[in-house]
Amino acid sequence: MQQFTEGHQFINGRYRQGRGEEAQRVNPATGSAAETLRYADGSDVNDAVDAAKRAYAGWSKRTPGERAEALLALAAELDARAGLLADLETAQTGKSIRMSTEFDVPGTVDNVSFFAGAARQLHGLAAGEYGAGGTSMVRREPIGVIGSISPWNYPLQMAGWKILPAIAAGNTIVLKPSELTPGTSLIFAEAAAAAGIPDGVINIVTGSGPVAGEALVTHRDVAMTSFTGSTAVGRHIMAMAARTAKRVHLELGGKAPFVVFDDADLEAAAHGAVAGSIINGGQDCTAATRAYIQAPLFEQFTARVAELMDAVVVGDPTDPDTDLGSLISHGHRDKVAGFVDRARDAGAKVLAGGAAPGGALAAGAFYRPTLVTGAAQDSEIVQDEIFGPVLTALPFDSDGEGIALANDTPYGLAASAWTRDLSRSLRASEEIAAGCVWVNDHIPIVSEMPHGGYKASGFGKDMSMYSFEEYTNVKHVMMSR
Ligand code: NAD
Repeated sequence: MQQFTEGHQFINGRYRQGRGEEAQRVNPATGSAAETLRYADGSDVNDAVDAAKRAYAGWSKRTPGERAEALLALAAELDARAGLLADLETAQTGKSIRMSTEFDVPGTVDNVSFFAGAARQLHGLAAGEYGAGGTSMVRREPIGVIGSISPWNYPLQMAGWKILPAIAAGNTIVLKPSELTPGTSLIFAEAAAAAGIPDGVINIVTGSGPVAGEALVTHRDVAMTSFTGSTAVGRHIMAMAARTAKRVHLELGGKAPFVVFDDADLEAAAHGAVAGSIINGGQDCTAATRAYIQAPLFEQFTARVAELMDAVVVGDPTDPDTDLGSLISHGHRDKVAGFVDRARDAGAKVLAGGAAPGGALAAGAFYRPTLVTGAAQDSEIVQDEIFGPVLTALPFDSDGEGIALANDTPYGLAASAWTRDLSRSLRASEEIAAGCVWVNDHIPIVSEMPHGGYKASGFGKDMSMYSFEEYTNVKHVMMSR
């Protein structure tokens, strides 16, 4: 794959080299060097923000219908690049090609068409006579230049989640994708240019967090920072944004509970737990990480999950038969393994996985689907975000105890409850503190519905009309006769 020969920055409608340090990208599935790239420095970020600022005057004045048309053309351009996007996503992240082809690319195209429709649906309040002699109306207006920062786990989808609501509402944007996975964000911007979206509306700067990321967050001409990534970096970004009193939108880490009540369909729940915990190598902020099982089902459930995990095909991510590819890097794989090793040393049982596969996969950053029982609720493996294919399981007695355990972490992004009882479903969905609660499922997302966290998982919503509204200012206009 010979891409990005002119550089890894896409600024004002053109590729170019960055002016920052040189870096090597490694293929995580093989451990071999994949490409050399030159990062953006502060001056590249300045150029990108200037381009976005210049483009804002024209783009913000387009009618909603014109912006919708441009987005529909973008959907077609992305569709035309579906194979390239899927291959790049798999090559840079190590995720299975099935995942890239069946989830990442079509999910992004669907999101584009959702926001094309949303562009024509932005409403303020109807005019009304609220004060004596004055007629009021509410205008929703774009904010200006948005600076966005995205992670490596779903590079293409995250680019879409940040770029689409922003530009559909009339803003322009500079996105800094993760330096580990810039490829599909760059192709996204290239496709937008081919769709006729004007130069400077979408700019991509590839560079490190502390250099390019901080330059973007602290830039005076950036009106809002939208960020998806870890809670630690999110806190730092919020503090930096305070210096210029910027609006922030933070989608942070997760530690999703998976609560199985004693009337659940055990086979469906076991399949859901495996699919939900290994999705994207477990490198999904909503992945099932903590299973709580009502005591009568515990032994049967954990035995079945272990059996299903052992049957997962871990292998070459480019092979369509592979269920689980590699993790993002060797360092990250070692971090995941460290959690499991320390839990085992402390007396927990590893019922499935708990090791990296050998043989032909030994050189890559692979890790087997892993089930751990007997770890204490307050241990690091149960409390901290691991971001790997690792599920812990603990039993509970009363319904209230199961829900309390589910809520017992700093995070609150997503959760699932497994039961056939309507009252239990309603209770769990009300009492679990998370931005999304699934009942009898775990993972599905749709463009029409909001995604975002409670507690240390952040605030702000991606996808849906809720996210669209976040990229607008609300103005009250009152006219007197
Ligand atoms: P990360 O926080 O390390 O990095 C995310 C982005 O922030 C990268 O682009 C990185 O370069 C940049 N960054 C790092 N330091 C920075 C700094 N000082 N200033 C500005 N930018 C900086 O996260 P990651 O390892 O790339 O991704 C995994 C994390 O993302 C997990 O915690 C996961 O839960 C979270 N995530 C959350 C959601 C969600 O919707 N809530 C979705 C996907 C991933």
